[in-house]
Amino acid sequence: MEITPLSEQEIQQLRTETEGTAQKIHFNNAGASLPPDVVVETVVNYLHEEAINGGYETEYKYDDQLNNTYELVARLINAGKDEIALVENASTAWGIAFNGIDFKPGDEIITCEMEYVTNLIGFLNVQKTRGVTLKIIPNDDLGNFSLPALEAAISPNTKLIAMTHISSTAGGMIPIVEIGKVARKHHILYLVDACQSAGQIPVDVKEIGCDMLSVTGRKYLRAPRGTGFLFVRKEVQDKLQLLFMDGFSAPSVSLDNFRPRNDARRFELYEKNRAITLGLGKAVEYALNIGVDRIWQRVQYLANLMRQQLAAIDGITVHDFGEQQCGIVTFSVNGMDSPSVKNKLAQNHINVSVGKAISTLIYMDKNHLTSNVRASVHYYNTEAEIKVMCNTLKALHVSIV
Ligand SMILES: *Cc1c(COP(=O)(O)O)cnc(C)c1O
Repeated sequence: MEITPLSEQEIQQLRTETEGTAQKIHFNNAGASLPPDVVVETVVNYLHEEAINGGYETEYKYDDQLNNTYELVARLINAGKDEIALVENASTAWGIAFNGIDFKPGDEIITCEMEYVTNLIGFLNVQKTRGVTLKIIPNDDLGNFSLPALEAAISPNTKLIAMTHISSTAGGMIPIVEIGKVARKHHILYLVDACQSAGQIPVDVKEIGCDMLSVTGRKYLRAPRGTGFLFVRKEVQDKLQLLFMDGFSAPSVSLDNFRPRNDARRFELYEKNRAITLGLGKAVEYALNIGVDRIWQRVQYLANLMRQQLAAIDGITVHDFGEQQCGIVTFSVNGMDSPSVKNKLAQNHINVSVGKAISTLIYMDKNHLTSNVRASVHYYNTEAEIKVMCNTLKALHVSIV
Protein backbone atom coordinates (compact mmCIF):
# COMPACT_ATOMS: atom_id res chain seq x y z
CA MET A 1 0.00 0.00 0.00
CA GLU A 2 1.16 3.49 -0.85
CA ILE A 3 2.30 5.48 2.19
CA THR A 4 1.38 9.17 2.24
CA PRO A 5 4.47 11.05 3.37
CA LEU A 6 4.18 13.48 6.26
CA SER A 7 3.71 16.90 4.71
CA GLU A 8 5.73 19.97 5.63
CA GLN A 9 2.57 21.41 7.15
CA GLU A 10 1.92 18.34 9.30
CA ILE A 11 5.48 18.36 10.56
CA GLN A 12 5.16 22.00 11.55
CA GLN A 13 1.91 21.18 13.32
CA LEU A 14 3.46 18.24 15.16
CA ARG A 15 6.36 20.46 16.22
CA THR A 16 3.93 23.05 17.51
CA GLU A 17 2.40 20.29 19.65
CA THR A 18 5.81 19.54 21.22
CA GLU A 19 7.12 22.37 23.34
CA GLY A 20 10.67 21.08 23.39
CA THR A 21 11.18 21.39 19.64
CA ALA A 22 11.22 25.18 20.00
CA GLN A 23 14.03 25.01 22.55
CA LYS A 24 16.41 22.34 21.35
CA ILE A 25 17.55 20.37 18.38
CA HIS A 26 16.77 17.00 19.86
CA PHE A 27 18.70 14.12 18.31
CA ASN A 28 18.51 11.90 21.38
CA ASN A 29 15.30 10.07 20.51
CA ALA A 30 16.94 6.70 21.07
CA GLY A 31 17.62 7.85 24.63
CA ALA A 32 14.34 9.60 25.37
CA SER A 33 12.20 11.47 22.85
CA LEU A 34 10.54 14.79 23.57
CA PRO A 35 6.97 13.91 24.58
CA PRO A 36 4.01 15.57 22.84
CA ASP A 37 2.44 18.30 25.01
CA VAL A 38 -0.77 16.27 25.33
CA VAL A 39 1.16 13.45 27.00
CA VAL A 40 2.65 15.81 29.58
CA GLU A 41 -0.73 17.44 30.24
CA THR A 42 -2.38 14.06 30.69
CA VAL A 43 0.15 13.04 33.34
CA VAL A 44 0.17 16.37 35.17
CA ASN A 45 -3.62 16.64 35.21
CA TYR A 46 -3.98 13.11 36.53
CA LEU A 47 -1.48 13.72 39.33
CA HIS A 48 -3.35 16.87 40.23
CA GLU A 49 -6.67 15.04 40.36
CA GLU A 50 -5.11 12.41 42.61
CA ALA A 51 -3.95 15.14 44.96
CA ILE A 52 -7.38 16.74 45.09
CA ASN A 53 -9.69 13.71 45.02
CA GLY A 54 -7.58 10.80 46.25
CA GLY A 55 -5.62 8.13 44.40
CA TYR A 56 -8.20 5.33 44.55
CA GLU A 57 -11.06 7.64 43.72
CA THR A 58 -9.23 9.03 40.70
CA GLU A 59 -8.34 5.54 39.51
CA TYR A 60 -12.00 4.57 39.71
CA LYS A 61 -13.01 7.61 37.70
CA TYR A 62 -10.42 6.90 34.98
CA ASP A 63 -10.93 3.14 34.91
CA ASP A 64 -11.96 3.04 31.24
CA GLN A 65 -9.11 5.25 30.08
CA LEU A 66 -6.57 3.27 32.10
CA ASN A 67 -7.84 0.04 30.58
CA ASN A 68 -7.75 1.64 27.16
CA THR A 69 -3.95 1.86 27.42
CA TYR A 70 -3.85 -1.96 27.06
CA GLU A 71 -6.12 -1.71 24.05
CA LEU A 72 -3.89 0.91 22.41
CA VAL A 73 -0.64 -0.92 23.12
CA ALA A 74 -2.19 -4.12 21.76
CA ARG A 75 -3.25 -2.28 18.60
CA LEU A 76 0.26 -0.83 18.19
CA ILE A 77 1.84 -4.30 17.95
CA ASN A 78 -1.14 -6.28 16.60
CA ALA A 79 -1.58 -8.31 19.78
CA GLY A 80 -4.55 -9.14 21.95
CA LYS A 81 -5.35 -6.92 24.91
CA ASP A 82 -4.94 -9.96 27.15
CA GLU A 83 -1.36 -10.42 25.89
CA ILE A 84 -0.03 -7.13 27.31
CA ALA A 85 1.52 -6.42 30.70
CA LEU A 86 2.43 -2.84 31.59
CA VAL A 87 5.65 -2.52 33.57
CA GLU A 88 8.07 0.27 34.41
CA ASN A 89 10.75 -0.31 31.77
CA ALA A 90 11.94 -2.68 29.09
CA SER A 91 14.54 -4.34 31.28
CA THR A 92 11.81 -5.40 33.71
CA ALA A 93 9.66 -6.60 30.81
CA TRP A 94 12.50 -8.61 29.32
CA GLY A 95 13.54 -9.99 32.73
CA ILE A 96 10.02 -11.15 33.57
CA ALA A 97 9.88 -13.10 30.32
CA PHE A 98 13.41 -14.45 30.29
CA ASN A 99 13.64 -15.42 33.96
CA GLY A 100 10.26 -17.10 33.74
CA ILE A 101 11.69 -19.68 31.34
CA ASP A 102 12.40 -23.05 32.86
CA PHE A 103 16.05 -23.47 31.81
CA LYS A 104 17.80 -26.77 32.46
CA PRO A 105 21.50 -27.67 32.28
CA GLY A 106 22.51 -28.21 28.66
CA ASP A 107 19.85 -25.91 27.23
CA GLU A 108 21.10 -23.50 24.59
CA ILE A 109 20.28 -19.87 23.92
CA ILE A 110 20.98 -18.34 20.52
CA THR A 111 21.43 -14.59 20.21
CA CYS A 112 23.06 -11.96 17.97
CA GLU A 113 26.03 -9.65 18.40
CA MET A 114 23.73 -6.62 18.72
CA GLU A 115 22.19 -7.80 21.97
CA TYR A 116 21.55 -5.21 24.68
CA VAL A 117 23.54 -5.29 27.92
CA THR A 118 20.58 -6.21 30.19
CA ASN A 119 19.87 -9.24 28.05
CA LEU A 120 23.51 -10.27 27.80
CA ILE A 121 23.79 -10.20 31.60
CA GLY A 122 20.66 -12.36 31.76
CA PHE A 123 22.28 -14.95 29.48
CA LEU A 124 25.56 -14.91 31.40
CA ASN A 125 23.64 -15.36 34.63
CA VAL A 126 21.82 -18.53 33.54
CA GLN A 127 25.05 -19.77 32.01
CA LYS A 128 26.60 -19.49 35.46
CA THR A 129 23.67 -20.59 37.61
CA ARG A 130 21.85 -23.15 35.45
CA GLY A 131 24.48 -24.55 33.08
CA VAL A 132 22.93 -23.03 29.97
CA THR A 133 25.10 -22.56 26.86
CA LEU A 134 25.13 -19.29 24.91
CA LYS A 135 25.64 -19.20 21.14
CA ILE A 136 26.23 -15.82 19.52
CA ILE A 137 25.64 -15.39 15.79
CA PRO A 138 28.13 -12.80 14.54
CA ASN A 139 27.13 -10.38 11.79
CA ASP A 140 28.79 -11.01 8.42
CA ASP A 141 31.46 -8.74 6.91
CA LEU A 142 28.84 -6.28 5.66
CA GLY A 143 27.26 -6.04 9.09
CA ASN A 144 24.22 -8.17 8.25
CA PHE A 145 22.80 -10.94 10.43
CA SER A 146 23.44 -14.38 8.94
CA LEU A 147 20.35 -16.58 8.65
CA PRO A 148 22.39 -19.60 7.46
CA ALA A 149 24.57 -19.25 10.56
CA LEU A 150 21.42 -19.23 12.70
CA GLU A 151 20.12 -22.39 11.02
CA ALA A 152 23.49 -24.04 11.56
CA ALA A 153 23.54 -23.10 15.26
CA ILE A 154 20.19 -24.68 16.06
CA SER A 155 20.34 -28.03 17.83
CA PRO A 156 17.83 -30.23 19.68
CA ASN A 157 18.98 -28.40 22.84
CA THR A 158 18.08 -24.92 21.61
CA LYS A 159 15.61 -23.61 24.15
CA LEU A 160 15.44 -19.95 23.20
CA ILE A 161 16.20 -17.58 20.36
CA ALA A 162 16.55 -14.05 21.78
CA MET A 163 17.16 -11.07 19.53
CA THR A 164 17.46 -7.30 19.86
CA HIS A 165 15.78 -5.80 16.79
CA ILE A 166 17.63 -2.48 16.94
CA SER A 167 20.63 -2.07 19.19
CA SER A 168 21.07 1.13 21.14
CA THR A 169 24.48 1.98 19.67
CA ALA A 170 24.26 1.26 15.95
CA GLY A 171 22.05 2.10 12.98
CA GLY A 172 21.71 -1.46 11.67
CA MET A 173 18.79 -3.82 12.20
CA ILE A 174 18.31 -7.51 12.86
CA PRO A 175 15.85 -9.32 10.51
CA ILE A 176 13.42 -10.35 13.23
CA VAL A 177 10.69 -11.49 10.82
CA GLU A 178 12.98 -13.90 8.97
CA ILE A 179 14.43 -15.13 12.27
CA GLY A 180 10.86 -15.67 13.48
CA LYS A 181 10.21 -18.02 10.56
CA VAL A 182 13.22 -20.11 11.57
CA ALA A 183 12.12 -20.14 15.21
CA ARG A 184 8.61 -21.28 14.24
CA LYS A 185 9.90 -23.97 11.90
CA HIS A 186 11.94 -25.49 14.72
CA HIS A 187 9.33 -24.78 17.45
CA ILE A 188 11.79 -22.75 19.49
CA LEU A 189 10.72 -20.10 21.99
CA TYR A 190 11.41 -16.63 20.55
CA LEU A 191 12.00 -13.45 22.59
CA VAL A 192 12.41 -10.06 20.88
CA ASP A 193 13.74 -6.82 22.37
CA ALA A 194 11.87 -4.13 20.40
CA CYS A 195 12.88 -1.24 22.64
CA GLN A 196 14.12 1.02 19.87
CA SER A 197 11.56 -0.21 17.35
CA ALA A 198 8.16 0.57 18.84
CA GLY A 199 7.03 4.01 17.69
CA GLN A 200 9.74 4.13 15.04
CA ILE A 201 8.89 1.21 12.78
CA PRO A 202 5.72 -0.89 12.43
CA VAL A 203 5.93 -3.80 14.88
CA ASP A 204 3.53 -6.70 14.31
CA VAL A 205 3.95 -9.62 16.70
CA LYS A 206 2.00 -11.94 14.40
CA GLU A 207 4.25 -11.12 11.47
CA ILE A 208 7.35 -11.50 13.64
CA GLY A 209 6.01 -14.74 15.08
CA CYS A 210 7.54 -14.02 18.49
CA ASP A 211 6.37 -15.47 21.78
CA MET A 212 7.51 -12.54 23.89
CA LEU A 213 8.46 -8.95 23.12
CA SER A 214 9.70 -6.14 25.35
CA VAL A 215 9.42 -2.38 24.84
CA THR A 216 10.19 0.83 26.71
CA GLY A 217 7.99 3.93 26.57
CA ARG A 218 10.46 6.79 26.68
CA LYS A 219 12.28 6.18 23.40
CA TYR A 220 10.58 6.33 19.98
CA LEU A 221 7.13 6.02 21.55
CA ARG A 222 7.51 9.48 23.17
CA ALA A 223 5.85 8.27 26.39
CA PRO A 224 6.83 9.33 29.92
CA ARG A 225 9.93 7.85 31.50
CA GLY A 226 9.27 4.83 33.71
CA THR A 227 6.86 3.17 31.28
CA GLY A 228 7.27 -0.06 29.35
CA PHE A 229 5.42 -3.17 28.37
CA LEU A 230 5.75 -6.87 27.79
CA PHE A 231 3.89 -8.92 25.21
CA VAL A 232 3.43 -12.62 25.95
CA ARG A 233 1.58 -14.73 23.45
CA LYS A 234 -1.54 -16.25 24.98
CA GLU A 235 -0.40 -19.85 24.43
CA VAL A 236 2.91 -19.17 26.16
CA GLN A 237 1.61 -17.45 29.30
CA ASP A 238 1.13 -20.66 31.27
CA LYS A 239 4.63 -21.83 30.35
CA LEU A 240 6.36 -18.93 32.08
CA GLN A 241 6.94 -19.05 35.82
CA LEU A 242 5.82 -15.98 37.71
CA LEU A 243 8.66 -14.22 39.52
CA PHE A 244 6.45 -12.04 41.71
CA MET A 245 2.82 -12.29 42.69
CA ASP A 246 0.29 -10.33 44.64
CA GLY A 247 -3.46 -10.42 45.04
CA PHE A 248 -3.81 -8.72 41.66
CA SER A 249 -1.68 -11.10 39.60
CA ALA A 250 -3.08 -14.14 41.45
CA PRO A 251 -6.58 -13.15 42.58
CA SER A 252 -7.71 -16.68 43.36
CA VAL A 253 -6.18 -17.70 46.70
CA SER A 254 -7.10 -20.25 49.34
CA LEU A 255 -4.94 -21.75 52.06
CA ASP A 256 -3.98 -24.71 49.89
CA ASN A 257 -3.71 -23.08 46.49
CA PHE A 258 -3.56 -19.95 44.36
CA ARG A 259 -4.19 -19.32 40.68
CA PRO A 260 -2.81 -16.54 38.48
CA ARG A 261 -5.02 -14.31 36.36
CA ASN A 262 -6.02 -15.53 32.95
CA ASP A 263 -4.15 -12.87 30.99
CA ALA A 264 -0.74 -11.21 30.68
CA ARG A 265 -1.51 -8.89 33.56
CA ARG A 266 -0.47 -11.81 35.78
CA PHE A 267 3.06 -10.51 35.05
CA GLU A 268 2.22 -7.18 36.70
CA LEU A 269 1.75 -6.22 40.31
CA TYR A 270 -1.13 -4.14 41.60
CA GLU A 271 0.67 -0.93 42.43
CA LYS A 272 1.84 1.25 39.61
CA ASN A 273 1.95 4.86 38.52
CA ARG A 274 -1.50 5.45 37.00
CA ALA A 275 -0.61 8.91 35.71
CA ILE A 276 2.13 7.61 33.45
CA THR A 277 0.01 4.61 32.46
CA LEU A 278 -2.41 7.14 30.99
CA GLY A 279 0.50 9.06 29.51
CA LEU A 280 1.74 5.91 27.79
CA GLY A 281 -1.72 5.39 26.33
CA LYS A 282 -1.79 8.96 25.03
CA ALA A 283 1.64 8.59 23.46
CA VAL A 284 0.66 5.37 21.70
CA GLU A 285 -2.57 6.95 20.49
CA TYR A 286 -0.59 9.91 19.18
CA ALA A 287 1.70 7.61 17.18
CA LEU A 288 -1.25 5.57 15.86
CA ASN A 289 -3.00 8.76 14.75
CA ILE A 290 0.02 9.79 12.69
CA GLY A 291 0.54 6.24 11.39
CA VAL A 292 3.65 4.28 12.31
CA ASP A 293 4.32 3.44 8.65
CA ARG A 294 4.48 7.17 7.89
CA ILE A 295 6.70 7.77 10.91
CA TRP A 296 9.05 5.06 9.71
CA GLN A 297 9.23 6.54 6.23
CA ARG A 298 10.12 9.97 7.59
CA VAL A 299 12.67 8.62 10.10
CA GLN A 300 14.50 6.66 7.39
CA TYR A 301 14.57 9.69 5.12
CA LEU A 302 16.02 11.97 7.80
CA ALA A 303 18.54 9.39 9.04
CA ASN A 304 19.84 8.73 5.53
CA LEU A 305 20.14 12.44 4.90
CA MET A 306 22.09 12.83 8.12
CA ARG A 307 24.42 9.94 7.28
CA GLN A 308 25.14 11.39 3.84
CA GLN A 309 25.87 14.85 5.21
CA LEU A 310 28.03 13.53 8.04
CA ALA A 311 30.02 11.27 5.74
CA ALA A 312 30.82 14.26 3.53
CA ILE A 313 32.51 16.10 6.41
CA ASP A 314 36.27 15.82 6.65
CA GLY A 315 37.32 13.90 9.77
CA ILE A 316 33.95 12.28 10.49
CA THR A 317 33.42 8.53 10.24
CA VAL A 318 29.89 7.11 10.15
CA HIS A 319 29.77 3.67 11.77
CA ASP A 320 26.40 2.22 10.78
CA PHE A 321 26.62 -1.15 9.09
CA GLY A 322 24.14 -3.38 7.31
CA GLU A 323 21.58 -3.32 4.54
CA GLN A 324 18.66 -1.99 6.57
CA GLN A 325 19.23 1.05 8.74
CA CYS A 326 17.05 2.97 11.14
CA GLY A 327 16.85 6.37 12.83
CA ILE A 328 19.97 5.83 14.90
CA VAL A 329 23.04 7.43 13.34
CA THR A 330 26.43 6.71 14.90
CA PHE A 331 29.71 8.38 14.12
CA SER A 332 32.99 9.65 15.51
CA VAL A 333 35.06 12.77 15.00
CA ASN A 334 38.78 12.39 14.38
CA GLY A 335 40.87 13.61 17.27
CA MET A 336 37.97 14.15 19.65
CA ASP A 337 36.38 11.69 22.05
CA SER A 338 32.61 11.12 21.95
CA PRO A 339 31.75 12.80 25.27
CA SER A 340 33.57 15.97 24.12
CA VAL A 341 31.64 15.99 20.83
CA LYS A 342 28.41 15.56 22.76
CA ASN A 343 29.31 18.41 25.12
CA LYS A 344 30.28 20.76 22.29
CA LEU A 345 26.97 20.10 20.55
CA ALA A 346 25.11 20.59 23.82
CA GLN A 347 26.66 24.05 24.12
CA ASN A 348 24.93 24.78 20.82
CA HIS A 349 21.55 23.45 22.06
CA ILE A 350 21.91 20.20 20.12
CA ASN A 351 21.16 17.02 22.05
CA VAL A 352 22.99 13.86 21.03
CA SER A 353 24.23 11.06 23.23
CA VAL A 354 27.22 8.81 23.63
CA GLY A 355 26.89 5.14 22.74
CA LYS A 356 28.87 3.22 25.33
CA ALA A 357 30.69 -0.03 24.67
CA ILE A 358 28.92 -1.77 27.55
CA SER A 359 25.48 -1.27 25.96
CA THR A 360 26.22 -3.47 22.94
CA LEU A 361 29.39 -5.15 24.16
CA ILE A 362 29.88 -7.84 21.51
CA TYR A 363 29.42 -5.49 18.55
CA MET A 364 31.41 -2.61 20.00
CA ASP A 365 34.36 -4.82 21.00
CA LYS A 366 34.42 -6.51 17.62
CA ASN A 367 34.57 -3.13 15.89
CA HIS A 368 37.13 -1.71 18.35
CA LEU A 369 34.75 1.03 19.47
CA THR A 370 35.01 2.23 23.06
CA SER A 371 32.16 4.65 22.35
CA ASN A 372 30.50 6.54 19.52
CA VAL A 373 28.40 9.63 19.08
CA ARG A 374 24.73 8.77 18.62
CA ALA A 375 22.41 11.17 16.85
CA SER A 376 18.97 9.60 16.67
CA VAL A 377 16.28 11.30 14.59
CA HIS A 378 12.52 11.27 14.98
CA TYR A 379 9.82 12.41 12.59
CA TYR A 380 9.59 15.83 14.24
CA ASN A 381 13.20 16.63 13.36
CA THR A 382 13.88 18.65 10.21
CA GLU A 383 16.38 18.96 7.38
CA ALA A 384 17.32 22.38 8.76
CA GLU A 385 18.22 20.87 12.15
CA ILE A 386 20.47 18.32 10.47
CA LYS A 387 22.20 21.12 8.60
CA VAL A 388 22.79 23.06 11.84
CA MET A 389 24.34 20.01 13.51
CA CYS A 390 26.59 19.30 10.52
CA ASN A 391 27.73 22.92 10.34
CA THR A 392 28.51 22.89 14.05
CA LEU A 393 30.54 19.70 13.61
CA LYS A 394 32.40 21.17 10.63
CA ALA A 395 33.41 24.21 12.66
CA LEU A 396 34.44 21.90 15.50
CA HIS A 397 36.67 19.86 13.31
CA VAL A 398 38.31 22.86 11.70
CA SER A 399 39.10 24.16 15.19
CA ILE A 400 40.86 20.96 16.28
CA VAL A 401 43.04 20.45 13.14
C1 LIG B 1 17.04 1.20 26.14
C2 LIG B 1 17.11 -0.22 25.74
C3 LIG B 1 16.71 -1.22 26.62
C4 LIG B 1 16.35 -0.99 28.06
O1 LIG B 1 15.23 -0.22 28.24
P1 LIG B 1 14.88 0.28 29.72
O2 LIG B 1 13.52 0.83 29.59
O3 LIG B 1 15.92 1.28 30.07
O4 LIG B 1 14.96 -0.89 30.60
C5 LIG B 1 16.70 -2.52 26.15
N1 LIG B 1 17.08 -2.81 24.91
C6 LIG B 1 17.47 -1.87 24.03
C7 LIG B 1 17.87 -2.26 22.66
C8 LIG B 1 17.53 -0.54 24.42
O5 LIG B 1 17.93 0.38 23.56
